[in-house]
Amino acid sequence: CGIVAYIGQREAYPIILKGLKRLEYRGYDSAGIALLNDGLKVYKKKGKVANLEEELQGKDLHSNIGIGHTRWATHGEPSDRNAHPHRSASGRFAMIHNGIIENYAQLKQELLSKGYVFHSDTDTEVLLNFIDDIQKNNDCQPEEAVRIALKRVVGAYVIVLLDQENPDTLIAARKGSPLVIGVGKNEHFLASDASPIIEYTKEVVYVNDYEVAIIRPDELILKNLGNERQTPFITKLDMEL
Ligand code: GLU
Repeated sequence: CGIVAYIGQREAYPIILKGLKRLEYRGYDSAGIALLNDGLKVYKKKGKVANLEEELQGKDLHSNIGIGHTRWATHGEPSDRNAHPHRSASGRFAMIHNGIIENYAQLKQELLSKGYVFHSDTDTEVLLNFIDDIQKNNDCQPEEAVRIALKRVVGAYVIVLLDQENPDTLIAARKGSPLVIGVGKNEHFLASDASPIIEYTKEVVYVNDYEVAIIRPDELILKNLGNERQTPFITKLDMEL
């Protein structure tokens, strides 16, 4: 029920972990994190963020990019395997998602008939492999695959995609679920609300429905699903910590 992501020059893991803790008030049943450290690494666990933290103690978690999630199960029981991030069949992408993909059953049928195998019961893994499949078939940029996929999706979502072949780019999109992007100096922070962001920057962009964000340390591009650039509108937060 919460997302946090980071891209920049700092260590992503402590920022994401702290952010997930700040979002705990929203309620959740499991938590997970994906980082790029000698390839794509995904860690996820049923239960509290503190359980995940304990499990990760002593691991090399160095990465300047990462995505984190707290899940409120809608499709599939709360469990380690249904926790996010999910990994695409190609292994290339990890994705977090808040919300519901209403037409996931139909999309899943299409993917099953193409030979896709699923490792969770979630609607999220269906959307992720749908994006993965479009990317492979069209040999296109992941942001384009996301746009094509989302035109067919019915439901509510905020998604953030980590691509091991593009270690300097995060892709995010939303419809109906909230997404705030904090703009820092050579860094960006993503979250479901401003509470994980406010200690780092007061400048935020609220992403609109049907917008895709392409986020690099020094660049934030917003596009609509028709591939037209949208101007990011920066809001100044006046909340105190
Ligand atoms: N529908 C997704 C799931 O059940 C995401 C739930 C959420 O918003 O946390 O895994």
